[in-house]
Amino acid sequence: MSRPVRVRFAPSPTGPLHIGGVRTALFNYLFAKKHNGVFYLRIEDTDQNRFVPGAEQYIFEALEWLGIAPSETVGKNEKFGPYRQSERKHLYKQYADQLVHSGWAYYAFDTAEALDNQRKQHEAEGKTFIYNWHNREKLDTSLVISAAETEKRIANGEAYVIRFKTPVNETLHLHDIIRGDLKFETNLLDDKVLFKSDGMPTYHLANIVDDHLMETSHVIRGEEWLPSLPLHSLLYKAFGWEAPEFAHLPLILKPVGNGKLSKRDGDKMGFPVFPLEWKSEEGISSGYREKGFFPEAVVNFLALLGWNDGTDQEIFSLEELAQKFDLNRVHKAGAKFDPEKNKWFNHHYLQQQSNERLAEAFAPILAEKNIVVEKDRLIKIVSSIKERANFVSEFWDLADYFFVAPTAYDEKAAKNCKEDTPHLMQQLISVLENIGDFTSINIETIVKDWMTKNEIGMGKVMQPFRLSLVGALKGPHLFDIVELIGKEETINRLEKAIATL
Ligand code: GLU
Repeated sequence: MSRPVRVRFAPSPTGPLHIGGVRTALFNYLFAKKHNGVFYLRIEDTDQNRFVPGAEQYIFEALEWLGIAPSETVGKNEKFGPYRQSERKHLYKQYADQLVHSGWAYYAFDTAEALDNQRKQHEAEGKTFIYNWHNREKLDTSLVISAAETEKRIANGEAYVIRFKTPVNETLHLHDIIRGDLKFETNLLDDKVLFKSDGMPTYHLANIVDDHLMETSHVIRGEEWLPSLPLHSLLYKAFGWEAPEFAHLPLILKPVGNGKLSKRDGDKMGFPVFPLEWKSEEGISSGYREKGFFPEAVVNFLALLGWNDGTDQEIFSLEELAQKFDLNRVHKAGAKFDPEKNKWFNHHYLQQQSNERLAEAFAPILAEKNIVVEKDRLIKIVSSIKERANFVSEFWDLADYFFVAPTAYDEKAAKNCKEDTPHLMQQLISVLENIGDFTSINIETIVKDWMTKNEIGMGKVMQPFRLSLVGALKGPHLFDIVELIGKEETINRLEKAIATL
């Protein structure tokens, strides 16, 4: 690697950042970290028609939340600023002109109407209209009129665009870090617009100029940009600039069926395709953050969409990823999105959280139900149920009986109660009443002693006991529940069950 590593994420703020975009940002971030380089973010907002308020802020917030914020961007270490293309507007025209002067580009005066007619005519003949070497000299361009005439028309305020003059009859031999050697025929390319009649550059021109000026060493982006690679590499050649290395990441595929993951898949199957919730006139799109995913889990599952370290390891922290990430290990083939597996990752990271932090996250859910719980008790409750949870939002369903007595009993379990069950439960109440140190271990020892001495089978006591406290045969270790519910409430619930069952 000759140049210092500088990589970028260059989103267009045209809506909420899709999870695929987040993966692109992540891979850039990891690559920069791995090579002690810089990860910067540039806002590509030259297409004013597609501007969406709030989208830019959303991008920053999402990366911040995931812990992969860029080290240079709008308002932050603006070494090569501005980092918003709309604020670099004044810069691009001179580069477009430069290409016209060196013969790599030309003015095109065709009106939108004229082009539309061409398109329609072609369609009627079952052909597609493509603007390139084969017809550019028959169209209204500076290639067929004199320089003086061109100047005059421009001076008269006639609208024009600047198009790239793609070379004819060349085979481009290009290299992509992930895809290897690639071949492109220039005759199949169209003469893309570089500079628009509204005075703004197109994506292609602005992107190349900025990648050059911002000293980008590697362009790591989604596969959908691969068709732009021949034009981009020709632009570097035309300017006489050293091109960055390219790596086009594989598509993220639908969980079932074929094709690219879309918002529709998420809506249909009930999983987010956005990192954060997004509210617009069309409604609310759910986000991983609001769904209760930990940022570590999202980073982890995204890292494995198209990459692995060559072993079976699946759990990686961000730091570990930054050490191990290798573009050479990114696959070409699309990566299937697996929403179920993503929950598994969240389960893992939930277990890693401290019980204090989980209790803090659970407290607002309880507060909404007007339940106030002492902190230490809540910490113990959380620690006893978290193993069964993928999300904090599941805590209530797993732990409701700690806070409210059951109002119904599982029918099947209730049917298993024997004739002597009420009598045994009554005896159990007397045993419990006499326990001074009401801790799980102590209660367990005393209750089991009583059962052994009286030759009472385990199931005969434990099942109805659990049913009385929980309402069903579920939950963690029974005596932990007893301790956490407390003596008085345990006895109340036993009495209620005797009366009801
Ligand atoms: N602005 C482009 C986008 O929205 C950037 C593509 C690239 O990385 O070159 O993804």
